[in-house]
Amino acid sequence: MHKFDELFSILNSHSTFIITSHVNPDADAIGSEIAIAGVLKQLGKEYYIINTSTTPYNLEFIDVDKSIQEYESNTHDEIIAKADAAIFLDLNHMNRTVRIEEQFRKFNGIKICLDHHTEPENFADFQIIDECMTSTGELIYDFIEAVDEISLTKEIALAIYAAILTDTGSFRFSKTTSTVHTKVANLLGFGLKPEEVYDKIYAQYDFSRIKLLGDALTSIEISESGKVSHLIVSQKSINKYNAIESDVDGFVNFGLATIGVEMAILFFELADGVKISFRSKGNIPVNELAKEFGGGGHVNASGARLFNVKLEDIIAKVLESADKYV
Ligand code: 5GP
Ligand code: MN
Repeated sequence: MHKFDELFSILNSHSTFIITSHVNPDADAIGSEIAIAGVLKQLGKEYYIINTSTTPYNLEFIDVDKSIQEYESNTHDEIIAKADAAIFLDLNHMNRTVRIEEQFRKFNGIKICLDHHTEPENFADFQIIDECMTSTGELIYDFIEAVDEISLTKEIALAIYAAILTDTGSFRFSKTTSTVHTKVANLLGFGLKPEEVYDKIYAQYDFSRIKLLGDALTSIEISESGKVSHLIVSQKSINKYNAIESDVDGFVNFGLATIGVEMAILFFELADGVKISFRSKGNIPVNELAKEFGGGGHVNASGARLFNVKLEDIIAKVLESADKYV
């Protein structure tokens, strides 16, 4: 059983909270933040949601109050220093907060971490990390349901629904059990419209994303063994289409859609480094592979972010290592 009562009493006994999540936030990151903010609202607490990245435009609808702020040293360093608690969601390594990490390292208040990734850094004073959960949103659902003093609202339900929807790959990944569907059924009971939520997240992209996807698909190569595929998104393409980082989300999955391919790797050239996304089928542990390059994640989905490296050099190294896993 999780320490939900303890989590509740920690929330209840502090007054000003910073809520944050990882760089390039997905719907689990944003949804978890909005859900926890909803809980703090019920408790009459003061809170600030501050992220290192801007909210991707297709996820803005989850932030109904427009309460998420993008970190800016001048505006937020003092607010962070004055808060008495910080809640880290959908991450378990502080470096995932990138530009805010330095502020959080010297933060004097209580640090709380709620997450579902493997291999935690254990930087928090209190943490609940459950790898069996589909999403951090699902963990927050269980928390809200376990504690009498707080309850789901339509706003929280939408946030958690979006989190579970995306982190289960639209209810298809192996963690999508009947229990998960029961929770989702309860969320839908708040009057959510699955078609609308799906449309907003997955079918309202800028045209730039589609053009960028075209370039990425053109770049696909499959290894000699036929088991590893890789795709490249270059800065040149990003600039050509005026695309943004979140436009690349999900591209890696196309790498897994070929017969015989068991692992897909996406190399995304950033202005100051390379972001790598790993996906696999079955029990190929791409989190182990990601770890070799300073990253982490889940068995079938993981990533790493490298700074000051050349794209060609890193591709060669990663592909060589990848062969050991298939
Ligand atoms: P994505 O490839 O979609 O960005 O990330 C897939 C998974 O890998 C996510 O669960 C994410 O938390 C994890 N991940 C992505 N990038 C990093 C990273 O730089 N470090 C760590 N530790 N995990 C990452
Ligand atoms: Mn997640």
